[in-house]
Amino acid sequence: MIDYQNVINTIHQNLKDEVNRGVVASYIPELAGVDINNFGIHLRLINGETYATGDWDKKLSIQSISKVLTLAMALPMYPENLWQRVDVEPSGNPFNHLSLLELEKGIPRNPLINAGAIVIADILVTLLDNPKEEFLNYVRSVVDDPTINFNETVANSERMTGYNNFAAANLLKAYGNLHNDVDTVLDFYFHQCAIEMTCEQLTKAFFMFANHGACCQENVLISASQAKRINALMLTCGFYDEAGEFAFEVGLPGKSGVGGGIVALLPNQFTISVWSPGLNKRGNSLLGMKALEQFTTMTKHSIF
Ligand code: GLU
Repeated sequence: MIDYQNVINTIHQNLKDEVNRGVVASYIPELAGVDINNFGIHLRLINGETYATGDWDKKLSIQSISKVLTLAMALPMYPENLWQRVDVEPSGNPFNHLSLLELEKGIPRNPLINAGAIVIADILVTLLDNPKEEFLNYVRSVVDDPTINFNETVANSERMTGYNNFAAANLLKAYGNLHNDVDTVLDFYFHQCAIEMTCEQLTKAFFMFANHGACCQENVLISASQAKRINALMLTCGFYDEAGEFAFEVGLPGKSGVGGGIVALLPNQFTISVWSPGLNKRGNSLLGMKALEQFTTMTKHSIF
């Protein structure tokens, strides 16, 4: 029997005073002010037990982690056509890379890079009457917490500096793979990224991927097969151009965001989230990756 509280306390103790914590993302100006010393871990077992340490109860900007949740919402509503508009191959490139999109005629490599997530945002904008409100309500119901919200200041901050995302959306539009207005789709996209959650809420939000599609409240939100596919995408595409390294070091499907959050999971076993805002050169939380590497090494819990 593993003493999980002891495991995560040990990891927290090992890393909390680390001097090299990476760099807080500053290309979204509003994120630049986040205290680099935040460091939290939350673990949720499939049987409902939870373990937490550090700053697990503080809100972080989930950023790209939201891409998994928009995909989970869109897939059951648009199961066949979705994969005609977005591919399922790792890009091996940074999250906002554009040249592949041009080379591949407006079909993004996968739904977890920005261009792919913008296509998923476009799908939701088409399918939903009030896209932002309905997506927020979806997230609130998945987590069973009506207090989850957008941070409007972060969304605005990203809109003001989102040149790369405007470029991607315009390229998608030029290739006919964006059906709505660029501004409308990006307004949705900037808001989904600007949702704030705690580490505890993140392990709840991702529970369905560890539980064959059923969320914490046991509502089935996606099929077991859709959960399997989303997990495969997280493993191969969830960490920008460092997905190989994450699989190599940690060995779990997961998703990171430039807010410094990472959520990972082992199907049938657990979901785990780590937050440390300092990023490594590839844009993944530096301490977050180290913490998860230590977790899978100490517990021997990995998909490999
Ligand atoms: N909103 C961010 C962007 O589009 C998300 C980046 C990320 O977390 O990877 O640049």
